[in-house]
Formats: sequence, structure tokens, C-alpha cells
Amino acid sequence: MGKGFFQVPVAVNEPVRSYAPGSPERESVLKQYKEYYNGKVDVPLYINGEEIRTGNTRTMSPPHDHQHVVGTYHLAEKTHVESAVSTALEAREKWANLSWEQRAAVFLKAADLIAGPYRDKMNASTMIAQSKNIHQAEIDAACEIIDFLKFNVEFMSRIYEDQPISDEGIWNRVEYRPLEGFVYAITPFNFTAIAGNLPTSAAMMGNVVVWKPSDHQIFSAKVIVDVLKEAGLPDGVINVVYGDPVMITDTLLDSPDFAGIHFTGSTEVFKGLWKKIGNNIDKYKTYPRIVGETGGKDFIIAHPTSNAKQVATAISRGAFEFQGQKCSAASRVYLPKSLADEVLNFVKEDIASFKMGSPEDMENFITAVIHEGSFDKLAGFIDRAKEDKEAEIFAGGSYDKSKGYFVQPTVIVTTDPQYVTMTTELFGPVVTVYVYEDDQWSETLKLVDTTSEYGLTGAVFSGDRYTIEEATKALQNSAGNFYINDKPTGAVVGQQPFGGARASGTNDKAGSMQNLLRWVSPRLIKETFVTPTDYRYPFLG
Ligand code: NAD
Repeated sequence: MGKGFFQVPVAVNEPVRSYAPGSPERESVLKQYKEYYNGKVDVPLYINGEEIRTGNTRTMSPPHDHQHVVGTYHLAEKTHVESAVSTALEAREKWANLSWEQRAAVFLKAADLIAGPYRDKMNASTMIAQSKNIHQAEIDAACEIIDFLKFNVEFMSRIYEDQPISDEGIWNRVEYRPLEGFVYAITPFNFTAIAGNLPTSAAMMGNVVVWKPSDHQIFSAKVIVDVLKEAGLPDGVINVVYGDPVMITDTLLDSPDFAGIHFTGSTEVFKGLWKKIGNNIDKYKTYPRIVGETGGKDFIIAHPTSNAKQVATAISRGAFEFQGQKCSAASRVYLPKSLADEVLNFVKEDIASFKMGSPEDMENFITAVIHEGSFDKLAGFIDRAKEDKEAEIFAGGSYDKSKGYFVQPTVIVTTDPQYVTMTTELFGPVVTVYVYEDDQWSETLKLVDTTSEYGLTGAVFSGDRYTIEEATKALQNSAGNFYINDKPTGAVVGQQPFGGARASGTNDKAGSMQNLLRWVSPRLIKETFVTPTDYRYPFLG
């Protein structure tokens, strides 16, 4: 501990830059984009601060131009994964014992580096690796990750401040120890901010980490590593490996020092991880913390009193931004018959106005989906909806993978509330609409609650306060993030802590104190000043 009760800088959300035509930030990020696009980056593994090039490489290509190669990355063998663990454990003692304010300073510096000199690199690499338009890149790879780093430092200091009371003659203290072992962070492709947050939130609390990013986010993951290095994160604290996820996971989960998993990704993968951890439980020195944020089948339900244009805008943004590849993206919508045509026609107009193509052309609102597997899956569901008698393609419905993995934003209207695209997470720009009879509002709320195994996000639109309250109660367990008269996407760190329950995860709320509490193991220290010398209590006479 330092010699003072230090106050951390007050966290405020990073302002989102506009990138409007003619703005200096637009020119600057496009310059960086071109440099990356026309260059070739070679991404090594990072173990103990060293760059490891195994020679077993894969190429990286932008989803919007899949024949164009922007670099390579190196795949880990089992020995590399094992050395990532031993390195982390060697780094643990010094890192866990470093004063908290020194740890905090590393991550605050990382936040300022991203806000300043690395902003273009974070955004341009995210535009290329994950096909985000500049606005989607900015709110993710710049603003959200900066917010995670700054707010988490503030939450950490608040956790440390939380101390028990002390009775007369004693002093009770709680110290928030890091976990005894290493944390395994596994991150998804869709948010550079999540890739940054999962390893750093655990490391901030004094833990050492082995991080496995998604194969489809490695370009932007490399920029995060560069930032952390420049911020002065000591070697061995966060070690980065890529390659066969099963081999990497089995190797890490086999270690007796495995102390926790910080996962974001699909439900199926998380359930598999949980089972493996369960099967290995006798091996571990400590019960591992299991934190996972997973899939969603997020809803919008509109009451007949809602505003059609507002509902349509929530669908156009909530279902189609970043090609619907947000865990929070609206993918099932319930419209009352009296409003359905109006809402759907507004959405159709919006879709007709969307431009689709490379994020380098900033007029494009929609770009490509992440990879061929995702493209083929989406095309399959669209084709099926064209055939099925209980479904109809109301808007969109075309796709083309000749240059990039482009799927046109698509609205399916179904007469079956249990239709396959009402229940399955598609993770793409496809939304399914079910039209209910106006007098079936309460029954439809039950339908919303019981249709999906997930419970991540959801939104109610209504102009009537009684129905807003009814929906808020009826859908209490249907969404961990519940929105009233707003789209279900776009959670901001510090404002809308994010996560869902049911099959959507452990709901440990990324970007909140609850999440950081999972990465510490409190130790209570009681000190007695005048220690008793006689066992007899007064009642014994
Ligand atoms: P994914 O599950 O395919 O991959 C996530 C990570 O797990 C990647 O690093 C991947 O390499 C790894 N992985 C894959 N198979 C594995 C295995 N058998 N063992 C160990 N690791 C394995 O998910 P994705 O396509 O990258 O991301 C999309 C999914 O993530 C969606 O389901 C989405 O809803 C979810 N997601 C949820 C949240 C949330 O906060 N709830 C946020 C973002 C994404």
C-alpha cells in the first residue's frame, strides 16, 4: 500500500467523435486505415513480454474484402500455452504485491494512450478486422475500452474502500487479494472493447492472465497489446496465445493453478467450458471463478400506444447496426396489428436507404458479416424463410460473398411466434417480426418471456405508463438489460452495466463493481489490541 489514501481521477465517459465529412478525425483515421490496409502486419504470440513467432501462421483478411491479405498471425503449440502459464505464475508474486495505485496508473495510462496517440490505430484495425463502420469502431475500440479502463480503476478503488466496522479494542480490515493462480480470458470477435476488458479487468485486481482472443479479432487485439506495453504493463502479467481453441483451453484447464475464466462468446462454447471445469474440479487448488457473458435473442415489443417511427428507428438501429452482430441486437420483434404496417414500412424505407460496402467508404452504414461460416448460416436461414409457408421476407433477403461477406439487412415476418428465427440466435442483420392482435398485449408479454432460452436485452415501447409497468414486471427475468422506449443496444460503461441471465450468462455485469469482485478473494484481518488472558466470562462468576 502507498503512504496515503489516494483518490483516483473521476471517471467520465469518453466523448464520441463525429467523423463528419471534412472533420480532421475523419481524414486522420482514413490515413491509418490505408496504411494498415496496404501493409502486412505479422502478429506474434506474447509470452513474458516476448514476441514468439512459431512459423505456423494463418493469414488475416478483412471480411469486406476476403481475398485481400493484411497480415499473418502465429499459432501456438501446446508448449507455448504451457509456457504462458508458467510465465504468468512467475510474474504473479511481484504483480500481486505491487501497490494498487501503481497498477491503476498502468491502466489509466493505457486509457489515455487510446484516447490520444492510439485512437486511429484502434479504430482503423477494428474497421479492417471486424468490418465496423467508423461510428461503430469509435464507440467500441476507442470510447468503450477507454471507459472500461477508467471506470474499472474507480470501481477498484471503491472496492478497496469497502471495509468492515471495528468494535472497541479491535481493528477489522479486509484486503482484496487477487486469486491464487491465473485467470484465463477468452474473448469474442465482435467487440474490441470486450477483448480489452476481459484480460485487463482481472489484471487490474492483481491477477495474472492468459488471454486467447478470437481468430477474427487478432489485428485489433495486437493494437491493444501494443498499448498495454507502452503503458508499462510488466512482462508476464497478460500473456497472449492464439490457435486451436480446444487445445489451448484443455491445456489451460488442466493446470492446478487455473483460478478463473473470464469468457464472452456463444452459449454453446461456454457450457462446454463449464463442463470441462466441472470434470477437472479435483485438480484445482482453489474453486475457479466462472464468469461468462454469452448469447442472446433480444426483443422489442411495441404497445399499440407507441410511436411507429420511434419503434421503426429502434429496429433499424437495434437490429442492423454492425450487421446485427451485437449480443444485444434486436432479433425478434412483436408488433400490434394496428401499428404493424406503419412500422414495417418505415423499416423498409430505412433499409432501402442503407448503403452497404467497405467501411473505408464512410457513406456505408452496413458492411460485411464476420466470416464465411456466418454468411452461409445467414443465407441458409434467409433461403429457408423464402420457402416456409409460415414466414415471408418482407424486406431485404439478398446476399453476396463474391468480394466480401455481404448480407442485406432482412426483415422476416412470421405467423408462428415459435418460428425458428424467433428462437435461434442468428448473429447477423436478420430480424423476425411477429404481429399480435391488439387485445392480446398481456398474452404477448408471456410469449416474449417464454419464447427464448436467453435473457440478455429487451425493449418495450409504449405511450401508456400502466402498460410500461406491466411489461417491466412481466419481463423481469427476460432481460438483464431492459430498455423503455429505446433500442436494446448501445450500453455505456458506468451508465448501463451490461449482462444477462438464463442462457445469456452469469450476469456479472461487465463494466461494474460486480465484475471486479469476481477477480478478488477477500481476506479478513482482525487485530485485537488488548488480548484477553483469562478464559472465564463474567457470567461464570
Ligand atoms: P464464439 O463462441 O464462437 O467464440 C468466442 C471465443 O471462444 C473465441 O475466442 C473462440 O476462439 C473461442 N472458442 C470457440 N470454440 C471454443 C472451444 N471449443 N473451446 C474454447 N474456446 C472456444 O463467439 P463469437 O462468434 O466470437 O462471438 C459471438 C457470440 O458471442 C454470440 O453468441 C454473442 O451473443 C456472444 N457475445 C455475448 C456478449 C455478452 O456480453 N453477452 C458480448 C459479445 C458477444
